Amino acid sequence: MTPIKISVLEKKYLSVSWNDGMETKIKLANLRKKCPCAICNSEKKENGDKYIPIYTNDQLTISEISKVGKYAIAVYWKDGHNTGIYEFGYLRSITDLTGDGK
Ligand SMILES: [Zn+2]
Repeated sequence: MTPIKISVLEKKYLSVSWNDGMETKIKLANLRKKCPCAICNSEKKENGDKYIPIYTNDQLTISEISKVGKYAIAVYWKDGHNTGIYEFGYLRSITDLTGDGK
């Protein structure tokens, strides 16, 4: 399961086309909220389950996406946060909308 195309739609969604024909979309706010990096995880732990983070525009704008090996992508946010590595399986599991791309 590998993404063949990743793009940002309407500055609001990350759209991923997968090599099995599936297309998934995730809201950038959720993508940021579910950032798997150690910094974000400890922040979530400190604040507990009821914590609702409020993000600035820069924190929800992707400046760059790069591939990490054959298993993940790294997302660079405009506020400088770049430690989030999203494994493909994880990226697919946190999706908000799915379709067959047709
Ligand atoms: Zn993070």
